[in-house]
Amino acid sequence: MNAPAPTRPLDLAALEPAELEHALEAMGAARFHAGQIYRWIHRRGVTDLDKMTDLSRELRASLKASAVVSTPKIARKDVSADGTTKYLLELEDGALIESVFIPDTPAQTFCISSQVGCAMRCGFCLTGKMGIIRNLTAGEIVGQARVLAKDLEMLEQTFNIVMMGMGEPLHNYDEVMKSLRMLGAEQGFAMAAKRITLSTVGIVPAIERLAGEEFMPNLAISLHATTEAQRNELVPINRKYGLVQLLDACRKFPVKKRGRITFEYVLLNEVNDTPEDARRLVKLLHGIKGKVNLLPLNAAPGIPFERPSDERVNRFAKILADSGVTVSVRKSRGRDIRAACGQLIVEGAKRKSPGQQLAALID
Ligand code: SAH
Repeated sequence: MNAPAPTRPLDLAALEPAELEHALEAMGAARFHAGQIYRWIHRRGVTDLDKMTDLSRELRASLKASAVVSTPKIARKDVSADGTTKYLLELEDGALIESVFIPDTPAQTFCISSQVGCAMRCGFCLTGKMGIIRNLTAGEIVGQARVLAKDLEMLEQTFNIVMMGMGEPLHNYDEVMKSLRMLGAEQGFAMAAKRITLSTVGIVPAIERLAGEEFMPNLAISLHATTEAQRNELVPINRKYGLVQLLDACRKFPVKKRGRITFEYVLLNEVNDTPEDARRLVKLLHGIKGKVNLLPLNAAPGIPFERPSDERVNRFAKILADSGVTVSVRKSRGRDIRAACGQLIVEGAKRKSPGQQLAALID
């Protein structure tokens, strides 16, 4: 006879408030405890059920028997000379992800991951080299903010979140949307949607779906090229959802009052950083409420491109600015600890998850 499959305990940290209410009801407890539990976990950073002192002893005992509060563990922490802090976090199944704290930009910002690895394989990005290992759950996505805020003693402070860590957020749509609702929940961080930015490689049907969401983050698009042929090379998903189609979806996207879509453009020396590229970019963005964020390449071994000189970066930026396009150049943060854009990759970890071992074999 087969042994019965082990039932997984209920993970209280992975539930949004309404789900928590249902779970409590199913246990025969009152729904209003959901707000208390959510507050302990997500606002106060408490994971030990015994410390949730406004719950009755009976409720705590029955929760302890059937539920857990699963929380990513800090496996390693590197602090850069500029204060940027990179966290290597270990999840319940041993999978490893990275999250980054970027101070004073001027806001305090957490850069969080949406997947273990990434399937998009953009030509200049190290995370893409890992391949996709698995999606993160909403609990694991929110868990990164929870762990960073607690470790940095920022639970009471306001911060921004950018979904610009490992992974393609719109490739994990449902869990990412749930994590946004959880971050916005009043009993937790109560984040305003405008403090959250979701960056995507441009999965057009998912952008169209996002346009109908109630809790709407700022949108950033990783554009990186101005012709279909070049984007096909640099950002392979372009072969499926082309540049014209992507910009069309951006044109239709409901940007909030005074809001704009950010177009990220990684500058690769003598590849996509010429004056012609800049002029084509101006044309492409015509009629879209957008701004451009230039990302001079963060070079790394294994990446077959170079970072352009400051002169080339400035020349590119000036052509945009002179044509009336709002443009900024992303200051690279935490490069000394490999926490900069496109440098998040789990390397040299002692223990690899089965998925990671498999990925290493396939690679
Ligand atoms: N998958 C999402 C989220 C990643 S955000 C997306 O593609 O938008 C990280 C940003 O850094 C993206 O714009 C990505 O293209 C960019 N990036 C990746 N590798 C980089 C590198 N080596 N140097 C600079 N920027 C890089």
